[in-house]
Amino acid sequence: MLRALPFPAALVDDSGHVIETNRWLDTPNGDPLVDLSGEQLEPEQGLALGIGNESRWRVRPLDDDASVLLATAEREDTGDHLMRRFFSSGDSLFVVYDQFGRIIQSNSAWENLLGYDHTTIFGIDSWTLLPPEDLVTRKRVEEELRADGRSEPTFQMRAADGSYRLVQWALHFDTSVGRCFGIGRDVTEEDRLAGELHHRAFHDELTGLANRARFLEELERCVATGTQPAVLFCDLDHFKVVNDSLGHHTGDLLLAAIGRRLGSLSSSVDILVARLGGDEFVVLLGNGTAERATKAARRIFTSMSQPVLIDGHPIHAGMSIGIAVSQTSSQTDAEGLLGRADTAAYQAKRLGRNRYEVFDDAMQATVDRRFNVEEGLHTALRDHGLEVHYQPVVALPGKGIVGIEALVRWRKPNGELVGPGGFLDVAEDAGLMPRLGAFVAAEALEVGAQLGRRGRPMTVSLNVSAGELSAGSEYVTQMFDMVSAVGIEPGNVLLEITELAVVSVETVRPTLQALRNAGLRVGLDDFGTGYSSLSHLRELPIDVVKVDRSYVMDLVSDPVTRAVTGSLLDLCSALDLEVILEGIETTDHASAVEQLGGKLAQGFLFHRPMPKDELLALVGGVRDLETSSLDGSVSTAVAPSN
Ligand code: C2E
Ligand code: MG
Ligand code: MG
Repeated sequence: MLRALPFPAALVDDSGHVIETNRWLDTPNGDPLVDLSGEQLEPEQGLALGIGNESRWRVRPLDDDASVLLATAEREDTGDHLMRRFFSSGDSLFVVYDQFGRIIQSNSAWENLLGYDHTTIFGIDSWTLLPPEDLVTRKRVEEELRADGRSEPTFQMRAADGSYRLVQWALHFDTSVGRCFGIGRDVTEEDRLAGELHHRAFHDELTGLANRARFLEELERCVATGTQPAVLFCDLDHFKVVNDSLGHHTGDLLLAAIGRRLGSLSSSVDILVARLGGDEFVVLLGNGTAERATKAARRIFTSMSQPVLIDGHPIHAGMSIGIAVSQTSSQTDAEGLLGRADTAAYQAKRLGRNRYEVFDDAMQATVDRRFNVEEGLHTALRDHGLEVHYQPVVALPGKGIVGIEALVRWRKPNGELVGPGGFLDVAEDAGLMPRLGAFVAAEALEVGAQLGRRGRPMTVSLNVSAGELSAGSEYVTQMFDMVSAVGIEPGNVLLEITELAVVSVETVRPTLQALRNAGLRVGLDDFGTGYSSLSHLRELPIDVVKVDRSYVMDLVSDPVTRAVTGSLLDLCSALDLEVILEGIETTDHASAVEQLGGKLAQGFLFHRPMPKDELLALVGGVRDLETSSLDGSVSTAVAPSN
């Protein structure tokens, strides 16, 4: 056994007399090169002895009563560091097999680790300790030992209790003695830790999906091997609202649930789903034509169409998906492709959310504009570049003006007037809505106050963004203070929310209730679009419903729309809700609305949105008609303008 060790070693008795040495210590005349006699040999203790007193020696008992010791030199040049580590540390495993793989000797570290008694393990075929399926390791190790007498495998070994430990071995087969010597190290924990670190490095903790690093690695691999990948960039719609109104914990639960849904879609091996961070997910198709990518997008929408239940609350999670396909893209490096998918997702958001867009070059130009818009808005907010226009609300059939809706406009430095469709989404994304909303409210309430002073008090409608509403009581206080400051009756202020802001009835309700408690009125805008739900009419504390323009458009031509709108008006009346019909453009629209019993309307037929001065001239100029105001009280109104 000794001869096979690839470093100086000697067997000595407990008084230090050398019994046997190996070839490292042999001298030509046969005298051992080491004499440890007379030394106090404490097992495990290093001794400054031996060859020219240069080496440290370490002695270990080979048998129970320590009558035979193995002394090994710790010279720097003694070869394999694993061997030295074994002898210097009590944790190293040591085992000797015969040429058939039967265990002849094992040390206590080996026995302790695997839980075998050396008497029972003696003569056992060591290969039987490997997992039955691990035939590859055995074959490889035997081949290597046969070829050059060495092998350094790492394999699982079955312990006495049935569990497995992962052991890294340095095996040396000495043909002269027909023995295989092995020094091993238990790397089970190390391996688990390494696995965990690897998992953490490449996985997103919240969702368990791959993370950005893993995604980019895979995308780069696809690009490099020319598989022509496609990327779907999936951005949750209105996630910020969920986070702000329902809290981060709920936000996290929602992300985890979405992650699970997306993850379950990756049925094919060449699909990788990852979370890049925040509310951004990506799907990588290893080989993706535009058709395959759009099909995947449609599958995602189908899976997202069911609300996610968080703590019993259903949350509708919309998604805007951007697709970039390397096949049709001039820029095919990984970052470039991801950037293009991101751009397409941004475009999908701009075009109304909850949809997908495939990247093309024209899109880039659109996206570049976004940055200009955002910059322009910052300037506008600072330099009074925003204007508020007002569209009257009229009572039917007299068409007298009973209210005004404030609609924001952006006057660009070049004089161009941009409507909200051209910048509100950018403002929302950039977190500018609270500032913008406060500006519009201040202007509009001032106009409302002026009308009041002219003897024409009327309802002032303000559109409230989801971002503002999610501020909750802060927003309520701010609104109430502003209304009180200008001296308008709170009941003459209508706050229009869209259903997009209603992430969950439970969370919006307290805010809406608080607004109403403060005397302000609340309206549900654009009803009939998005996630319209009749239950919202019953469940939300609201006073007014604004029926979307799309209903009015079809009223004349489509009997079904007429019937639905009629029922809606009946329901609202039963629920004591006022209804305003939006987007009356023709006299046919107006008469259809009147026939259905609609009482309040808004539309280009009556008045387009107009600047403040025009409005004041229109409303404040004449005082000769009586009409009912939005809240039912009687006030003086102007003659209809058309
Ligand atoms: P909205 O609140 O539903 O406002 C009605 C929109 O329909 C206005 O568009 C108005 O000009 C338009 N409209 C009115 N009558 C007709 C008609 O007969 N035919 C047609 N085709 N359109 C008509 P605008 O001003 O472009 O505003 C669009 C949306 O932007 C608003 O929809 C509102 O949701 C939002 N918005 C406008 N101002 C603000 C604001 O200050 N804050 C917030 N948060 N949102 C605003
Ligand atoms: Mg509105
Ligand atoms: Mg509307």
